[in-house]
Amino acid sequence: MELRTLADVSLAGKRVLYRVGYDVPLRKNGRSLVVAEDTRIRETLPTLQKLREGGAAVVLLSWLGRPKGTVVEDLRMVPVAQRLARLGRFPVETAPDCIGRDVASRIAALKPGNVLMLENVRFHPEEDDHRPDFAQKLVAPCDLVVMDAFSQAHRDVASISGILRFRPAIAGLLLEREVRELSAVLERPARPLVAVIGGAKISTKLGLIAALLPKVDYLCLGGALANTILKAKGIAVGRSLVEEDMLETLRGVELTSPKLKIPVDVTVGGAKSADTPRRTVAVGNVLDDDLILDIGPDTVNLFSRVIEKAKTVIWNGPMGVYELAPFTAGTRGVARSIASSKAKAVAGGGETLDAIAALRFQKKFHFLSTGGGAMLEFLEGKKLPGIQPLVKTTR
Ligand code: ADP
Ligand code: MG
Repeated sequence: MELRTLADVSLAGKRVLYRVGYDVPLRKNGRSLVVAEDTRIRETLPTLQKLREGGAAVVLLSWLGRPKGTVVEDLRMVPVAQRLARLGRFPVETAPDCIGRDVASRIAALKPGNVLMLENVRFHPEEDDHRPDFAQKLVAPCDLVVMDAFSQAHRDVASISGILRFRPAIAGLLLEREVRELSAVLERPARPLVAVIGGAKISTKLGLIAALLPKVDYLCLGGALANTILKAKGIAVGRSLVEEDMLETLRGVELTSPKLKIPVDVTVGGAKSADTPRRTVAVGNVLDDDLILDIGPDTVNLFSRVIEKAKTVIWNGPMGVYELAPFTAGTRGVARSIASSKAKAVAGGGETLDAIAALRFQKKFHFLSTGGGAMLEFLEGKKLPGIQPLVKTTR
């Protein structure tokens, strides 16, 4: 998949609508709000530098949180602009809205290299309603769209797919790298290729599991979604988190594939809390009152044996309730074997990245995707509405 990129346009004197994925967590600091985690801001600095050096004025657009079509004071972009200004060491102005006459004249007055951050696009209900007239208003004051919001690229809304229709549009450096790295894993991986999938819900990841199974050499499944697989295989899982309505769907999946590695032992507790008494048992020995909260040590060994031999590893989803100290061992064990293997390792997902950061393993990974849902859909082979219009067509 080849995208139109910065190499395909001239920037001098242009007003660029730079669509970024600044959906970052905020926290209170005294009376004001500050950005709690700024990876998604840092990741845009290289593109911003290119745009400004090239002589473009930059108009930043993103959404933040879920204001649901109304103005929510605590979800204004101001703290994000402040953090960007500090990280980038350049002034970042903020606008009180993302459309309108005042905003248009502010944009018209920008000089090459200036940076203006528009207000949260989700303050307008037209965003999620995907109104083309709203998308048109967003791009009207600008000459060119640079799309870098990979983490939001799976959403078919005005500020993602809408804006790409009304102006020339290219991929920024971050989107370009996401597509290159994730495509490489799918299209020409060094083998063996091992996928490790965990997390909460099989319903959000079954598409990925089904798409990966024919491509990988091994697929290791842990986390709560493995509970649903165990139950579909007729193994008792007590009171564990299970998606009952997925059991029927799972009949269509090749659960007996020799590529599929599922837990052989689990750590159970009586409640999802740190002080619950816990036991590690073989999967056949889970009692009626037990909750499966982590994979067990034999499962960590089983997964580690295939990870050790891998040349490429894809990881998404924690192996257990890693937020609670007694149930981190599975996630930590798997993370450790990925980190110490020689494999080219790629990971993504909100909680997965959080777990990797807590272990300070970021440097051990070849690539950490900024996309959660977007990464899952991309790896599934879906065409993302925020990426597809940027693909070069050969004629
Ligand atoms: P990611 O954001 O990395 O894609 P998910 O959102 O799919 O991951 O899942 C992460 C969540 O799954 C974590 O909050 C974790 O507590 C939960 N989880 C993992 N294993 C279990 C389990 N056995 N029971 C309940 N929740 C689990
Ligand atoms: Mg998550």
